[in-house]
Amino acid sequence: MFRISSYITDKINAGVRLLIDFLPQFSKGEILEALQRKRAAFPELPDGELLFGIVNNQVGRVVMKRVGGDLQQAASLVKAFPLTVTGSLGFDYAQVTKGGISMTEVTEDLESRFVKGLYFAGEILDVDGPCGGFNLQWAYSSAMRVAKALNKKD
Ligand SMILES: Cc1cc2nc3c(=O)[nH]c(=O)nc-3n(C[C@H](O)[C@H](O)[C@H](O)COP(=O)(O)OP(=O)(O)OC[C@H]3O[C@@H](n4cnc5c(N)ncnc54)[C@H](O)[C@@H]3O)c2cc1C
Repeated sequence: MFRISSYITDKINAGVRLLIDFLPQFSKGEILEALQRKRAAFPELPDGELLFGIVNNQVGRVVMKRVGGDLQQAASLVKAFPLTVTGSLGFDYAQVTKGGISMTEVTEDLESRFVKGLYFAGEILDVDGPCGGFNLQWAYSSAMRVAKALNKKD
C-alpha cells in the first residue's frame, strides 16, 4: 500500500480500483486445492477460518464471508480482491513528497538554471523513490553533490 500510494494518490479523484493478489506465488488452482484439502481434513472448521494460515486471518475471514463458503470463488477472490481507493492520509502523514523543482531546471551540480548561486538538494527537487532508504540516500547524495560544487568554487 505504502509503495503504490505514490502512483495513485494524484488519481484518487478520478477513481482508482485495485485488484490485489494476496498470494502471487500460487495459482488459483493451487489455492482451491489447498482449501479443498483443508475442508476435507477439518470438516468441523468454520468456513470463516478456512483461509487461516494461508492469508492474513482478517483477510481470510472477509474473503470467506463475501463468498459464503464457496471455495472456487474464495480462490478467485484471493487472487483478485477488488478495492476502491477512497483517499490517502495526505501531506501530514506523507513520508516522501512527489513534485518540487524540476530536474530540468537545475544543472548537474543542482544549481538553478535561473538563479546563479542557488543550489537545491534533497526532497525539494522533483525526485522520489520507493521505500528502502532511496529518499534518504538522495538527500545525502544530492547534498554531497552541492557541497562538492560549492567547494570547487572557492
Ligand atoms: C516519518 C517519515 C519516515 C521516513 N522514512 C524514510 C525511510 O525509511 N527511508 C527513506 O529513504 N526516507 C524516509 N523518509 C523520507 C526522508 O526522510 C526525506 O526524503 C529526507 O529526509 C529529505 O531530506 P531533506 O534534507 O531534503 O529534507 P528534510 O529532512 O525535510 O529537511 C529539511 C529541513 O529544513 C528545515 N526547514 C524547513 N523550513 C525551514 C525554514 N524556513 N528555515 C530553516 N529551516 C527550515 C526543516 O526543519 C528540516 O530540518 C521518511 C520521511 C518521514 C516523514
